[in-house]
Amino acid sequence: MALKGKNAVITGSTSGIGLGIARALAAEGVNVMLNGLGDAAEIETVRAGLAQEFGVTVLYHPANMLEPAEIRDMVAKAEAAFGSVDILVNNAGIQFVSPVEDFPDEKWDQIIRINLSASFHGIKAVIPGMKKRGWGRIINISSAHSLVASPFKSAYVAAKHGVAGLTKTVALEVATAKITVNAIAPGYVWTPLVERQIPDTMKARNMTEEEVKKNVLLAAQPTKEFVTIEQVASLALYLCSDAASAMTGTTYSIDGGWTAQ
Ligand code: NAD
Repeated sequence: MALKGKNAVITGSTSGIGLGIARALAAEGVNVMLNGLGDAAEIETVRAGLAQEFGVTVLYHPANMLEPAEIRDMVAKAEAAFGSVDILVNNAGIQFVSPVEDFPDEKWDQIIRINLSASFHGIKAVIPGMKKRGWGRIINISSAHSLVASPFKSAYVAAKHGVAGLTKTVALEVATAKITVNAIAPGYVWTPLVERQIPDTMKARNMTEEEVKKNVLLAAQPTKEFVTIEQVASLALYLCSDAASAMTGTTYSIDGGWTAQ
């Protein structure tokens, strides 16, 4: 792969899927700017560890995805430090579960801003540089919920469907500029976020850990296995490669068969 020396910004990369994608890109020689919330000392340990393990430059920017000006600043800082942003991975996301009639207005707004609008602001900021250099890869981490719905997740499902539309639209706009824009739609991925839900669910439903995984979390996932962070990261890496230069404007499912049903 010819990604060595390219530069990437990955939102929400202090944990889970984003961190996995940062690792995979760093392993290919890509300099990365990390972003996300969390304990400053822990983030610094991750940053320094990646830089040492893979011999690339690893920076961190604390942009809150709720704030467009901070997103613009993150891209500007990455361009200033690296000289370019060649790869943007819009990954940061949050979830909130509630019947629509009780869904708090502020949770709706936050989810739309973090899971959808932040991708728009990041894309808007990186496109001019990518056009000028004639190469770019934009990957939006959406979800099986960009293709199908589940009850009680109105904001998340609406935002992720929006990401699918944003992906298609921007892909068409930059199709002749050697910039591809795609979305990855994972099913349930084994991340700290998912792991943390297990003890409460075991208690609430009087189930064993295995029962919670198979009958609750993986109820909609025919393989009855979690997708792994590494599998999602491998797909992201492929979409960054030159082999994927004809793949644009599409959402790629990696969901154990969920959306085949
Ligand atoms: P995670 O909670 O492990 O990671 C989320 C990341 O986003 C963290 O780094 C967090 O700090 C960051 N973040 C949250 N709010 C932020 C904000 N306001 N500003 C900046 N950063 C913020 O979750 P994950 O499971 O790795 O999810 C990553 C993405 O994958 C999300 O978009 C999620 O919707 C999507 N996804 C996850 C799954 C799954 O099963 N885990 C399935 C489908 C899609």
